[in-house]
Amino acid sequence: MTFTQRVVNLQPEGAYEVLARAQEMEADGRKIIHLEVGEPDFQTFPHISQAGVRAIHEGHTRYNPPAGLRRLREVIADKEGQRRGMKVRPAQVLISPGAKPNMFFPALALIEPGDEVVYPDPGFPTYLEMIKVAGGVPKPVRLLEENSFSFDLEDFDRLVNDRTKLIILNSPANPTGGVIPADDLAHIAQAAQRYDCWVISDEIYSRLAYDGLEVPSIASLPGMAERTVIVDGFSKTYAMTGWRLGYGIMPADLARRVELLLTHALGCTADFTQHAGVAAILGPQHDVEAAVEVYRNRRDLIVERLNSLPGVHCKKPQGAFYAFPNVKALGTSSKELANLVLEQAGVALLPGTAFGRYGEGYLRLSYANTIENITDAMDGMQELFIHLAA
Ligand code: PMP
Repeated sequence: MTFTQRVVNLQPEGAYEVLARAQEMEADGRKIIHLEVGEPDFQTFPHISQAGVRAIHEGHTRYNPPAGLRRLREVIADKEGQRRGMKVRPAQVLISPGAKPNMFFPALALIEPGDEVVYPDPGFPTYLEMIKVAGGVPKPVRLLEENSFSFDLEDFDRLVNDRTKLIILNSPANPTGGVIPADDLAHIAQAAQRYDCWVISDEIYSRLAYDGLEVPSIASLPGMAERTVIVDGFSKTYAMTGWRLGYGIMPADLARRVELLLTHALGCTADFTQHAGVAAILGPQHDVEAAVEVYRNRRDLIVERLNSLPGVHCKKPQGAFYAFPNVKALGTSSKELANLVLEQAGVALLPGTAFGRYGEGYLRLSYANTIENITDAMDGMQELFIHLAA
């Protein structure tokens, strides 16, 4: 049996592989602390769940338009446009089950086989896989730890040219927690215009930024709205990963094409889920603000503890809920070290290389977990790292 080129080289997400191994160990009776999965540990905020349940009882359980409910598209155009300082029309908004289809389908709509696509490395694994499925030529740009894990702009300038069709950005970023500085965004926007490129700006963590930091969107810069797809959603901001609700904001002519891909591939997004989404955006936002404070405290703890480990130094992440410590001084590969930490300290985390080759020398730990679990994990790692450094 042979399969298409499109699928033979597809890779799974590293987090799922480590989770499977950790679960095997748990089945054998080992206690494992899970710092590998990237999802909020909160329940969906109650007023949002209630709106979803109410919608089911009211019979919102049928097909609805492939682009999403008119009401939700209006609310997103209004509030999410305003938050970014942009004027957005509902026709520019597409709803999808989770944010992922709103990057995968725009990628299919924009990349012709042979087109070059520039994307962050280390970066969210879906970027590379969707480029490959579309037949694009992946051009990973190295991120610089000393520049808030933003692009190495020299590397970026070397890689962007007339063949570049698309630039993918993610700020705040998975796996690094980095936020792209405004000057870098301006530099990238200039290149996108010079070489006539599209931009997919993954802003799924844009509400999870710390210390009052505002995260600018490249789409709000002059000349950029007409070449940018903003990807965002409800999974992280409102602790709604399992509801599957996300959206894209893009030029209306691209939205019409992507809508057809959504129509034929997915049909539509669940109706009651979208009612919960309206409640999330229009309702009180204090649960989101409280969650950001909780994450900030956990960040401060995990970063302090990581920096006290021999051979480890960890920049303070500015957003998302990941720490990305540099472990190069230990002289062990990221993969070996992640395995050792799982086997010997009972802590599941990811090697930086799960996010691309430039992730070598780093680990990713999710701090969407309790202070108690983070403390226990750090105690376990401390013992192991003292032993490794001896
Ligand atoms: N982008 C990034 C950077 C992510 O980390 C994730 C979730 N892990 C997503 C997009 C997808 O989120 P969802 O499909 O749940 O909305």
